[in-house]
Amino acid sequence: MHGLMQDHPLLISTLIRHAAENHGRREVVSRLGDGSIHRTDYATIEQRARRLARALESRGIRSGDRVATLAWNTYRHVECFYGVSGHGAVLHTVNPRLFHEQIAYIIRHAEDRVLVFDADLLPIVETIAPEIGCVERFVVLCDRSGMPQSERLKLEAYEDWIDGADDDYTWPNLDERAASSLCYTSGTTGNPKGVLYSHRSTLIHALSASQADGFSLSGLDAVMPIAPLFHANGWSLPYACPMVGAKMVLPGHHMDAGSLFELLSTEGVSFAVGVPTIWTMLLTYMSEQGATLPNLGRCLVAGTALPPAVQKSLKDVHGAIAIHAWGMTETSPIGTVGTPTAEVDTLPEVERAVQLLKQGRVPYGVEIQVRDSQGGIAPRDGETFGPLWVRGSWVASGYFKGEGGAVLDADGWFPTGDVATWDRYGYMKITDRTKDVIKSGGEWISSIDVENAAMSHPKVALAAAVSAFHPKWDERPVLVIVPKAGQQLTREELLEFLTPLMAKWWLPDDVVFVSEMPMTATGKILKAKLREQYWHRLA
Ligand code: ADP
Repeated sequence: MHGLMQDHPLLISTLIRHAAENHGRREVVSRLGDGSIHRTDYATIEQRARRLARALESRGIRSGDRVATLAWNTYRHVECFYGVSGHGAVLHTVNPRLFHEQIAYIIRHAEDRVLVFDADLLPIVETIAPEIGCVERFVVLCDRSGMPQSERLKLEAYEDWIDGADDDYTWPNLDERAASSLCYTSGTTGNPKGVLYSHRSTLIHALSASQADGFSLSGLDAVMPIAPLFHANGWSLPYACPMVGAKMVLPGHHMDAGSLFELLSTEGVSFAVGVPTIWTMLLTYMSEQGATLPNLGRCLVAGTALPPAVQKSLKDVHGAIAIHAWGMTETSPIGTVGTPTAEVDTLPEVERAVQLLKQGRVPYGVEIQVRDSQGGIAPRDGETFGPLWVRGSWVASGYFKGEGGAVLDADGWFPTGDVATWDRYGYMKITDRTKDVIKSGGEWISSIDVENAAMSHPKVALAAAVSAFHPKWDERPVLVIVPKAGQQLTREELLEFLTPLMAKWWLPDDVVFVSEMPMTATGKILKAKLREQYWHRLA
């Protein structure tokens, strides 16, 4: 017997319609390319998203067609999240920081019919244009007066599309399982692979993300996604903010500490989201300026491990809670969030802080497993580490166009490529990526633990532990360090500092000081490059 409840499909358009009707005047603030501040609201965004949908429809873009964006965090990009997916087309957010060949590859692979991009990214688009024959229209996110000149391409102004479309578009009723957006993983090995989200997965993920033990979002929040909207669905914020009526504060491409701080402060941001390197940069800037952010209550830190030093200074200096989360493009992205349970909340302060440095526990809707070396389930002792598997309603079941073949095991579990422990409180801790583990004499050293210990030295800005070839032990750790500006640090001083913090056999065999780290397009240290560089360091 079926229940007698109404059956409304979970559609992305229902989110922005809800926001327009119930939080219509709630602001969305953006820093534009020229540094100026632009203000709009959810009612206007919904109206313009409908016009965008109409513009797409009148140009023959149909359900399932892919529309790519190459864009920074601004209100126009948010409009695309709704105009494109709401119309039934698939929003393909492309990361402009990828290599040009990768951008061209994924646009071709996705068969994007339209490319919508920010004006300052025209040089990339012009370079790859000969490689992306699938793209029929090039639309610049500006009005006619802001249009850049292009000798090679016929460009159209986004604002002309919006102005030229009438207002009477109504959001179509779609299958909630229809594809809504597409993100490619950066593909550190092999070609990038596309993760294809559905309206349903996106909506239930956003419902979960906004819960108290997720981002704890409410209409009272002012939220700044410092993490790019093109990375893993903007960590759900373009969906979760309108869902609850939170103000959005979007930094555009002005990612320097001064510009970010100014927006965080003047717009009263209460919740901000970014990778650890962003937080390290902001905290250094604020300590140099003697500035604090009294409104900032919570910071979500994910993408790479939360360094204890960041957790501590956010709390001690700014009174803000660092919420540590783990996820990946394939998990929409939220897999676990490190908020306290009742049990953890009553632990002594130091133990509680250590617990909350872990990547956290699953929300309803996700299941995880840490497996042992025989493929069985590892004990929940917080010590045994093994491969991490995940499954749930917002976890990928495969890649776009079957790339990479079947990825799930017989019971539907997805292999994350991460190595983790889990403990009796239900908290998971990432100890490494499978390929970054340092295998010393058959035992595993967690590169993340070594890095975190090094990062707690007051003179260290960035640390990376990588394996180097060793004739006796196969691999031994080498620590690569970027010291804080103006600080002198020696190898001996650092090793002495690390000695009480880890098992003796985990201590790095060598320390290298560099002025900068090679970084990936998603703001992570490019360990593969460092490994290649220092592989023979100990030979
Ligand atoms: P990319 O590799 O392109 O950055 P993803 O965002 O999908 O794409 O990366 C997901 C990976 O990032 C995870 O598998 C994990 O290795 C790492 N990661 C994400 N969050 C954390 C975290 N809080 N701590 C440690 N590693 C993390």
